[in-house]
Amino acid sequence: MIRVTENLGKIHDLLTKAALEAKRDPGSIRLLAVSKKQPLQRVADAVAAGQRDFGENFVQEGLERIEKLPQKHLVWHFIGHLQTNKTRAVAENFDWIHTLDRVKTAERLSRHRPDELGDLNVCLQVNIDDEPEKSGVRADALPELAAACVKLPRLKLRGLMCLPALCEDFDKQRVPFARLRVLKESLAENGIAMDSLSMGMSGDYRAAIWEGATIVRIGTAVFGPRPD
Ligand SMILES: *Cc1c(COP(=O)(O)O)cnc(C)c1O
Repeated sequence: MIRVTENLGKIHDLLTKAALEAKRDPGSIRLLAVSKKQPLQRVADAVAAGQRDFGENFVQEGLERIEKLPQKHLVWHFIGHLQTNKTRAVAENFDWIHTLDRVKTAERLSRHRPDELGDLNVCLQVNIDDEPEKSGVRADALPELAAACVKLPRLKLRGLMCLPALCEDFDKQRVPFARLRVLKESLAENGIAMDSLSMGMSGDYRAAIWEGATIVRIGTAVFGPRPD
């Protein structure tokens, strides 16, 4: 028996503790519950427990969730790899995308975003370990992508996102998160101010909070292991 309500309570306590250790306001950190591949009932339990922000990796599964959980106050974040033929579905149904890494995709999202929904919130995914096979824009190409996004209508550039290689050591975990924070700071110095850093998961959220995460994306610690 997975107790989503209890898990959420525990995570909020842990996030608060990590924020205070890092001398930050716990209210500045938003919990994004990553519901990919989880049974709908667990997601509904989280909604009932007051969780507002949900992260989905797969477009089709995300659309089904959004349809079955139509509560207006919920905020849906797309955090998976986005194929260009799915940009319309994301632009028409989600509130945020965290994984934008190409100008072409940005242009399509901008074009497909319906006016009446307001701006689509965007985080740019950075390939922070510079691993050739991984998604995300390289750090050296980030300024150009950010500048292009700022110019596009119906997109609101909110921040940067990363998905570093997993590791257990706290100090090592901090390194890529610090790098992402510095990239955000240097964009701000060049006139591109953003308010979000989407970083940290179940195993490394504490290091991410120490380095300034404003959105932590947590799946298994909220919903339990993903059933196959
Ligand atoms: C699955 C996933 C998460 C959550 O991972 P957990 O280890 O279950 O907390 C966060 N971010 C992204 C992009 C993911 O794909």
